[in-house]
Amino acid sequence: MTDRRWRRAAVVGGGICGLVAARVLADHFEEVVLLERDALPEGAEPRKGVPQARHVHGLLARGSGHLEELFPGLRDELLAAGAPLFDHGDMASTTVWAGTVPRTKVGVPAHAFSRDLLESTLRRRVAALPQVAVRDATPVEGLQWDATATRVDGVVLNRAATGTEVLPADLVVDASGRFSALPDWLEKAGYPRPRTTVVDAGLAYSTQVFEAPPQSFLGLQQMNSAPHNPRGTFVARVEGDRWVVTLFGAGGDHPPKDSDGWLEFAKGLGNPDLDGLIASGSAFSGVHHFSRTENRRTEYAKLARWPDRLIALGDSACAFNPVFGQGMTVAVLEALALGEALTRRRSRCGERGGELGGLARRFQRKVAGIVRLPWLMSISEDLVWHHYREGRTRLPLLLGASNWYKQRLVHLVVHDPQVFRTFLRVYHMLTPPTAMAAPRILAKALFRGVSPKKPQAARVSAGPDARQARR
Ligand SMILES: Cc1cc2nc3c(=O)[nH]c(=O)nc-3n(C[C@H](O)[C@H](O)[C@H](O)COP(=O)(O)OP(=O)(O)OC[C@H]3O[C@@H](n4cnc5c(N)ncnc54)[C@H](O)[C@@H]3O)c2cc1C
Repeated sequence: MTDRRWRRAAVVGGGICGLVAARVLADHFEEVVLLERDALPEGAEPRKGVPQARHVHGLLARGSGHLEELFPGLRDELLAAGAPLFDHGDMASTTVWAGTVPRTKVGVPAHAFSRDLLESTLRRRVAALPQVAVRDATPVEGLQWDATATRVDGVVLNRAATGTEVLPADLVVDASGRFSALPDWLEKAGYPRPRTTVVDAGLAYSTQVFEAPPQSFLGLQQMNSAPHNPRGTFVARVEGDRWVVTLFGAGGDHPPKDSDGWLEFAKGLGNPDLDGLIASGSAFSGVHHFSRTENRRTEYAKLARWPDRLIALGDSACAFNPVFGQGMTVAVLEALALGEALTRRRSRCGERGGELGGLARRFQRKVAGIVRLPWLMSISEDLVWHHYREGRTRLPLLLGASNWYKQRLVHLVVHDPQVFRTFLRVYHMLTPPTAMAAPRILAKALFRGVSPKKPQAARVSAGPDARQARR
């Protein structure tokens, strides 16, 4: 269906979610205006509004496949820009508490690039669509409401050059990220403030970029495990033969912000592949630190009232602890679902597609459904950090049981290629997490899996951000 029936959609935020949403909306609206607060760079450069882009950003195979459908030829374009594409099991070095996983082909592709390269490539593609206008250096300051505040009619902009301006729109999509002001805007219009559930593992990232010669791997991951082993690393060889090296620590055990402390933390991981990379290369970026990594889900779908023509997507609706690399893929899944909802509405209502009334509320429930499993996956480990950081020594029964099972699976991942393959397919969202409890794997975990030895004391520190709060 290519005829565009609705007049204008406004997208707040030009990050990955906003870009993918704009791509999908361009199939349904005569005009899509993408509004970004930052002045956008020409190419793959850092910018203020997405500080997380300094850190390793792995795109899961599920998200990568769907992005290719939306932007045909994207994979080749990224490859041509120097972003390596490889088999995750074969060319990534994976270490977990039970040891380093023997490398083997698993048929799960991993594509490594900087987040700046991905974003700038998508931006160029989206900006080239005839329906899309990208307006950068344009902060959105609020929503434009109808007289009864039951429908959103557009957005209020504030540009340095032109001052305050109202942009009318038939649909407004908020993709302004984990610090979205949408709860404030709703409250200001008389809506109850949506509840935000926060689960914070006290996790922080510190990253340096290296120049280094080729290694035996293109990616490296050393996973932490709650609660005794808070530290880990993600490494990706990205375009320009650069190595992005992210160190992370949960439970308040944060990697340092200075380069000497950073190096010491890296050495402490005891990972020969990482040591070899650092010894053979030189860092040139300085250390970038980021600690706002808490899982944060705003319960828009549970509000008793929801305005017509307003939708919240991506990190604005649900932001994840980044260690599972789910954020970009979930944003893509939500944007695709939005496209499907609009297509359905048009086929039901005929040529003109009818009014958009009611669609936004139903769609917000759909978003809640899409984030449910990734959210559970992300918080299950983080709740363990949370409990120990609160000074508790015993986990609640269910959480304890699921953590026990997970640790035995992690042991199997090192010793059983079939379990490793399934694990990577689940990690890349190609297979549902229930696959890790299929009868054959369940039996292996129960009878052959091993739990980690209990260390003397949990390496967690209590901190002000140790919380699971409802706000
Ligand atoms: C440290 C870290 C590492 C991560 N690693 C991964 C990973 O490996 N894999 C993965 O898939 N995901 C990862 N993520 C998550 C990922 O960055 C996001 O989930 C994903 O980019 C989708 O975000 P978004 O587009 O919704 O928001 P963002 O990327 O935050 O973009 C929001 C945009 O909105 C703009 N904006 C904000 N307010 C306004 C306003 N009022 N008016 C106009 N514009 C506005 C901002 O400037 C920004 O450009 C990581 C996150 C963090 C914090």
